[in-house]
Amino acid sequence: MAQEELFKKLVAHCKEYGFVFPSSEIYDGLAAVYDYGQYGVELKNNIKKYWWDSLVLLHENIVGLDAAIFMHPTIWKASGHVDAFSDPLVDNKDSKKRYRADVLIEDQMAKYEGKINKEVNKARKRFGDAFDQAQFLKTNARVLANQEKHDALHARFVKAINDSDLDELRQIIVDEEIVCPISGSRNWTDVRHFNLMFSTEMGSTSESANKIYLRPETAQGIFVNYLNVQQSGRMKIPFGIAQIGKAFRNEIVARQFIFRMREFEQMEMQFFVPPGSELEWFDYWKKNRMNWHRALGFGEDKYRFHDHDKLAHYANAATDIEFEFPFGFKEVEGIHSRTDFDLDSHQEYSGKKLQYFDPETNKNYVPFVVETSIGVDRMFLQIISAAYTEETITKEDGSTDSRVVLKLPPVLAPVKLAVFPLTKKDGLPKKARTIIDQLKFDFNCQYEEKDSIGKRYRRQDAIGTPFCITVDHQTLEDDTVTIRYRDSMEQERIPVNQINEIMKEKISLRQLLEKLTD
Ligand code: ATP
Repeated sequence: MAQEELFKKLVAHCKEYGFVFPSSEIYDGLAAVYDYGQYGVELKNNIKKYWWDSLVLLHENIVGLDAAIFMHPTIWKASGHVDAFSDPLVDNKDSKKRYRADVLIEDQMAKYEGKINKEVNKARKRFGDAFDQAQFLKTNARVLANQEKHDALHARFVKAINDSDLDELRQIIVDEEIVCPISGSRNWTDVRHFNLMFSTEMGSTSESANKIYLRPETAQGIFVNYLNVQQSGRMKIPFGIAQIGKAFRNEIVARQFIFRMREFEQMEMQFFVPPGSELEWFDYWKKNRMNWHRALGFGEDKYRFHDHDKLAHYANAATDIEFEFPFGFKEVEGIHSRTDFDLDSHQEYSGKKLQYFDPETNKNYVPFVVETSIGVDRMFLQIISAAYTEETITKEDGSTDSRVVLKLPPVLAPVKLAVFPLTKKDGLPKKARTIIDQLKFDFNCQYEEKDSIGKRYRRQDAIGTPFCITVDHQTLEDDTVTIRYRDSMEQERIPVNQINEIMKEKISLRQLLEKLTD
């Protein structure tokens, strides 16, 4: 199935099964804003818990924070967001559609990469086992021509971005003959800067109104509280502060479902270190965060690092963790060595000292910061796109059927266990409820009695429930039930009093967290 087709199905599935709804749908929606439904909110909470516990529980020198969304407006001046948090914007005069100039150019580079991959795949098919990919990439004329075009474009693009040269960005679009996907024309406006921060007014009367911003990242709430946390918690450097919260960006092009939203949620951790040790810590957090992603078991080759071509004004090293979404490898998480830029700047703008006194060296200094920053919604999309599976199954009588199953890691699944009475009679519903009553304190359980057992299995597969239990007449005699496993679809008979143990073993967050401490 084409990846585009698959992605459309995934979006439809998220709506049909109560994971993600377009916001304000009865009013025709609000662009790039989404609501999480009954299963979406559970999955989202489980992702947040996995992130939080992996940092705050596993590291004794990392603590949490929950700062307000509204902050003093000068914070955004000091952080550089008022002056520099913008994207290069270009309009197509025919379709009146607005694009990010850098994204148009990056897509063009991806086209060259796509052409190279196509040649490689064709050759692999032709030569079979004898295919030597490295040799092919070095010698094939078409590959070399596309590689040359790609590299020249890449070099020109990096220079234009680093110089903030908007005219050159436009010239690249013109020279590469990039067309608007809607109108098909090359009729572009000039490229200009567009600030991504939303603003509103605080105060009840217009005279006292004060322009404030909806935070575009959660990190600044950590910076301005770093001394409060350090002093009240008697934290010693190195230490970290973790925070989960909403962020807002007036994205020019909001697309790909919950990949790029105007209101989203971030999980950020700022790690404060002595100056000079930041690059070592940067490497540490790169490895740590990649392990966190890989521990979910979706496959090593689904992830890669992408080092930044252009370092942000505050960074001396930066990389992204990219995941292979149905629309290609894209960023899910950024890891940045932010130097002392933010704290220094807040010292200057606030006039307050933000230095740390190191009791070992008897010296004061402004710490450097290594940050890990991940979007909850992008992580959600990563998980759900990796988990979404369409399968054909052969039944006992030889006929075939199909199912859509979300192969979610059990610990993240919204519902852990579904309990079905075989029929609505003979006391089976009552027995099923007794089982749930025992388990509901520890696990999110669901009771279902409508439709055939097969249909009930399909509904639970579609929301990713790892275990289904069927209560039948034998249960009333010997207190055993059938447990059915989501991925293998295998069934076995087990005593009721073993359900709790099986569930605990297979669904513990501890098991996942232990993988991170190896
Ligand atoms: P991009 O290049 O995709 O715009 P970014 O580099 O601006 O992202 P950061 O500022 O590093 O992103 O933000 C950290 C993380 O927050 C990203 O890796 C992503 O997971 C998430 N994020 C950023 N912008 C959005 C958005 N508009 N919608 C959803 N998640 C986002």
